[in-house]
Amino acid sequence: MFNIVIFGAPGSGKGTQSENLIKHYGLFHISTGDVLRSHIARGTELGKTAESYISKGSLIPDELMISILADILDNTPEARDGVIFDGFPRTIPQAQALNTMLAERGAKVDAVVGLQVDDEELITRLLKRGQDSGRSDDNLETINKRLEVYHSQTLPLQEFYQKQGDFLGIKGTGTVEEIFDRIKAAIKEKCGR
Ligand code: ATP
Ligand code: MG
Repeated sequence: MFNIVIFGAPGSGKGTQSENLIKHYGLFHISTGDVLRSHIARGTELGKTAESYISKGSLIPDELMISILADILDNTPEARDGVIFDGFPRTIPQAQALNTMLAERGAKVDAVVGLQVDDEELITRLLKRGQDSGRSDDNLETINKRLEVYHSQTLPLQEFYQKQGDFLGIKGTGTVEEIFDRIKAAIKEKCGR
């Protein structure tokens, strides 16, 4: 199994670069944001719960999020060879749970790609996306809340993964191609592929 975590603030380009990573490394994409939005669109119980957190810019509780992830890993044969984790983990308990889930499968996180973009640029990108995304969380008030949550709850993961020796900081501005070239070079240096 070859597992990559793509990490960064809201609007940092995780989804875009995940597409490139899937093609290049042949990995399975798990975007927790997409999973939750699909539940919201289908009006499931989980979707109703998720919407109440997402529209406020808050995180879904760890226990629920971890069980969703475990369920996907258990029931997706395509995830056997390797996964791009996009939007998960977002907290230290989620990262610890991911380590455990992968260890149970004889695997580990091979690299964490951390896309680095400053807040001003993030807000510009998210407001632009909000014009046509139809997402209840792409408005200025919720964007500010999401950035606050990112700094307080998610950014501590950078140090967690630095200590683990897995963190690859990548400058997240420039063209999509330039950024992907940086990602490929960093993964090649760390993982040899
Ligand atoms: P990006 O634009 O880089 O894809 P994003 O902030 O738009 O990032 P998504 O990953 O699409 O974020 O997630 C949207 C929302 O779904 C989050 O703001 C949060 O409420 C919820 N969510 C997604 N993943 C998690 C998670 N691992 N833990 C808790 N909540 C989550
Ligand atoms: Mg996304």
